[in-house]
Amino acid sequence: MTVALITHPACLEHDTGDWHPECADRLRYVLRALEGEAFLPLIREMAPLATEEQIGRVHPADYIRMIMEVAPGPGERIPLDADTLMSEGSREAALRSAGGAVMAVDAVMEGWAKRVFVATRPPGHHAETNRPMGFCLFANAAIAARHAQAKWGVERVAVVDFDVHHGNGTQEIFERDASLFYASSHQFPCYPGTGAGHERGIGNVVNAPLEPGATGAQFRAAWDETILPALDAFAPGLIIVSAGFDAHKADPLAQLRLETSDFGWVTRKLLGIADIHCGGRLVSLLEGGYDLDALAASAALHVRTLLEA
Ligand SMILES: [Zn+2]
Repeated sequence: MTVALITHPACLEHDTGDWHPECADRLRYVLRALEGEAFLPLIREMAPLATEEQIGRVHPADYIRMIMEVAPGPGERIPLDADTLMSEGSREAALRSAGGAVMAVDAVMEGWAKRVFVATRPPGHHAETNRPMGFCLFANAAIAARHAQAKWGVERVAVVDFDVHHGNGTQEIFERDASLFYASSHQFPCYPGTGAGHERGIGNVVNAPLEPGATGAQFRAAWDETILPALDAFAPGLIIVSAGFDAHKADPLAQLRLETSDFGWVTRKLLGIADIHCGGRLVSLLEGGYDLDALAASAALHVRTLLEA
């Protein structure tokens, strides 16, 4: 299977400080885990800078300007909310994170890759139309979805999210647009507080909240019984995955109890639906995951599964 890996060293220069869970080592661990022989077939590409036009399909011009004008000096960090901040390298990292998501869409639509994993940071699913939040500056998955529609004419795009936190940003951006679909499993209650089962948008949002302590069996049941049937019924032309690995039992930020193998399982299920509706095309974007070893092992299994026929 032709699978691309998109990343960029500038994403290591988003410097959140010594004690922040969303740190550059996360990306280093993921990339090191993708170095072995099993990953030689990956087509490796550098994430380009997203353009204002691409980001502007989701965020208004004054929001983009606000982010661009935060200009920390060397060693300086400027907070945007309680846990989201920018360092000198953050602007380029954020532009490449969004740009990598856009490039991934182009890759699967041009056909030089069937599936793509984008290993970049900062992540995106908490960023709302007008608000940076939860380590996120730009809504990368939503930007990719709108790019697929605007440039490639894909009518219906689905974002599915197995990060342990609810993607409040993606939901807020999608919830009144019937051409977009958002589904998430996540710990509830947990940060950011949204994602109750009754939040359904205009019928295009599916939330499958899981109680703290829920195991892989409960995670798989939520996907099998709730998310996957709704995704299948939506019949997307493209699936974009918000791939966070912080539902792992070792993760320090939440209390779900998934095993590494559960991420392989959900990946294979999504590939099955992509084969039915999307000509096999699937784009996956790194979101959270804060236990470095669990993150690396889970992301590696995710990408190994993408490489399967
Ligand atoms: Zn998360």
